[in-house]
This record gives sequence, C-alpha cells and structure tokens, in this order.
Amino acid sequence: MTDLYGLLPEEMEKLVMDMGYQRYRADQILLPLYYKFPKDISEIKQLPKTMREELIKAGYTIGSTKEIHQVVSKDGETMKLLLGLPDDNSVETVLMQYPSTKLFGIPRSTICVSTQIGCAMGCVFCATGQMGFETNLRAEHIVSQVIHFAEILQKRNQHVTNIVFMGMGEPMANYDEMIKAIRILTHPRGFGIGQRHITISTIGITSGIDKLAEEDLQIGLAISLHAPNDKLRKKLVPTAGPNSVQEIIDAGRRYFKKTGRRVTFEYALMEGVNDSIETAMELANLLKGNGSHVNLIPINPTAGDFKRPSTGRVLKFEQILVDAGINCTVRVEKGTEISAACGQLRTDMMN
Ligand code: SAH
Ligand code: SF4
Repeated sequence: MTDLYGLLPEEMEKLVMDMGYQRYRADQILLPLYYKFPKDISEIKQLPKTMREELIKAGYTIGSTKEIHQVVSKDGETMKLLLGLPDDNSVETVLMQYPSTKLFGIPRSTICVSTQIGCAMGCVFCATGQMGFETNLRAEHIVSQVIHFAEILQKRNQHVTNIVFMGMGEPMANYDEMIKAIRILTHPRGFGIGQRHITISTIGITSGIDKLAEEDLQIGLAISLHAPNDKLRKKLVPTAGPNSVQEIIDAGRRYFKKTGRRVTFEYALMEGVNDSIETAMELANLLKGNGSHVNLIPINPTAGDFKRPSTGRVLKFEQILVDAGINCTVRVEKGTEISAACGQLRTDMMN
C-alpha cells in the first residue's frame, strides 16, 4: 500500500504519467488532497472512474492514519488526537490554539507533530523517552497528522498557521522521512504552509543540524539544551554523549549563519536539578553575546519524580538571563490536564 499523502507533487506526476495519463492529472489529485481531505481515492471525483479504480488496484490509498480518540481541554484551546497506523501502532498529535489578536483575525493554530513512536534518547524527564523507541513514522504519517487537524479547522473556517516538530520522538533520528514530510507540507502544490511557519525541535544531534542547514529551507530550529554543562546534561539526557554542550551551541551558530533563522534553546526547568542561580549564571555566560533566544519550560508532570519550580524561582532564573542580555521567554503551559503538553505524550497513557 502506498499512501498518496507520502508523495511529493513531482512523484505524483511521475505516478500518473507512468500510468499513461497526462501530467495535469497529478493536480487533480493534489488539489482535493490538500483542500478537501478525502478519505478514499473513490471520493476524488475529478478523476475518471477508471483511473480511480486503477489507482486502488495498484495499491494506492489515502489516509493510512485513522482517528481513534480525541480529547479536548476544558478551555477548548488544546486538542489531542490518537491516530491509529496500519500496523496497529498509534501516535499522538496535538493542536494548540491561541486566541485571535488584532493582528491575526483568526486564532493561531499550531500543530505539534510526532516523528517517531517512542524515542531512543531516553531523557529522564520525558514520558516519550521513558517508553523507549518503538518505530519511525513515515512521511505520510507525519503529513496526515497535520491533515486531520486541517480538516477539523476547515469546518470552523480556520486553518493551520504553524507546525512544530515537538511531539513524540527525535526528528533528527528520522531525518529522511521528516524532511520529506516538510517538503510535502511546504510545497505550493502540496499542503503549502510557509517554511517560516515550521519549527523543528531537536535534542541536539549536531550532524542533523548541519544537514538541515544545507537543505535550503527556512525552517525554525529549537535545540533542547536543558543544562549549561556536560556533567549535568548527561544526567538529564543519558544519550548526550556524542555531542558536548559546546558542540551543540556551535552547530546552532552554524545553522543561524547559513539560514539566517534565529535558533531557540529550550530549557526544561526542574526544581533542585537545573534551576539554581549558579546554573542560571553558567547558562548566561555560555550564551551571552550569541544573539540566542532561550525558551524556559517549567517541567510538566510525567511519570518521573521531577518537580516544576515555583513561579518565583522561574522568574529569578529568567531575570538572570535577561540581565545578561539574553532574549528569554517562559513557555505558556497548554494542555497539561489532558496530558497533551510537552513531554507528556505516550500512547499507553491516553486519557
Ligand atoms: N525530541 C525533540 C522534540 C520532542 S520533545 C526534543 O527533545 O527537542 C519537545 C520538547 O518538550 C523538548 O524541548 C523537550 O525537552 C520538552 N519536554 C520533554 N519532556 C518534558 C516535560 N516533562 N516537561 C516539559 N517539557 C518537556
Ligand atoms: Fe526524545 Fe525529545 Fe523526549 Fe528526549 S525530550 S526523550 S529527545 S522526545
């Protein structure tokens, strides 16, 4: 079975031409795929019936992920979907909405996509890391996470405004499928979202960061740092070995130089672990003068023993960075009560 959501427009053209049809037939598939969200090839009425039948017979399909379950937060701004994959695995994906402002008449609708089921990086504070690695998602599975929400939003006269690769898994550990999904999602004849509306979050695999910098894409990059030195980082990210903190920061600098896109360092704050004044000063020294941006994430509750620091402590940590001239924000928590927040995604905990 080949899901049409996993094909680039160029591949779609090749497919129809190999079947003996004219090139324009590709757009007769692509347009409905990304604007009407059909569930079955038979619903693409623009195509001749014989062509639809031929496609189905040749093993083509659409929508290889099926919605199993949906949860919405009390304020209605966060929605989590559990999607079933053809091999009986399932994956979580989240929509976060931010109320409309004067500037944006419609709410900002950010989709947080997963790239893997589970994750091999084993970060001690992350529910996905604690479930271990199960499998890599294919490009069509990544694309269809967005499609499910695009359809839900279309019914409300809204649309997907941003996509962040911050769900389950480490995007750089599934590089080829992740990039293919991005090319489909940003292609003007595909989903067509602007490259600048996509952000990839990585635990800091420097070879992946360098590769991404060469892709000629204007994708935002977030690097999950969590500690200003290797000793502490290794405790939190047990697989951090191959890349030191300094190497990660250097890779971020190279990415900025090559793409012009600002790099954000994510820092999950854990009480008594990495939230002391000394640690903040060490981080400030490390990043100062770098033009970097830090996003502090007071930890969300997971199965681990880590606690979120008090607001006072978070603000103190932030102040130290700001005083050193570092651009700093504290992440607004979303979806914690439905376990849809950062680091809370794991398929066996769906509620
Ligand atoms: N693997 C990638 C992307 C997915 S995790 C990465 O680690 O960057 C997305 C973000 O959620 C990362 O910044 C990660 O550090 C953060 N995160 C993980 N567990 C968390 C938790 N329990 N509370 C808050 N943030 C968490
Ligand atoms: Fe994997 Fe990211 Fe979770 Fe670490 S924080 S275990 S890299 S998903």
